[in-house]
Amino acid sequence: MVGICEYCGQAVECGDCAAPDEVAWEFCDCRDARHRQRLQAQIDEALEHLEEIFGERAEEYNHLPPVQHASLYELLRCAVAEVGTGHAASVSVGIPGGGTAVIRAGSKGEIRVSRRMSRVVTAEASI
Ligand SMILES: [Zn+2]
Repeated sequence: MVGICEYCGQAVECGDCAAPDEVAWEFCDCRDARHRQRLQAQIDEALEHLEEIFGERAEEYNHLPPVQHASLYELLRCAVAEVGTGHAASVSVGIPGGGTAVIRAGSKGEIRVSRRMSRVVTAEASI
């Protein structure tokens, strides 16, 4: 299939895909398409980290419970994409019983995914 790159308008061969115009940028080597390919590679890597910290693999990697609701996990995936494309500088989401998800752009433009757990130990003695 041949798709039209949305950045430069070139026709590019993009294999056997259902929506060639939507994915043509993945196969084009113009400057803007290459920039987007790099951003997408970074987003994909951050999504791997998200899965290790909040997803199905969280227990195995951190001994922390995975996010319970698929819709909330989807929100975190969207946050990674928004930070990765520069639409948001940071997003933080409170996870009920599971700390706070913080997704932000680092100083070199990298996507940082972290889970902040606050552990407070309090003891009271009264007379
Ligand atoms: Zn292009």
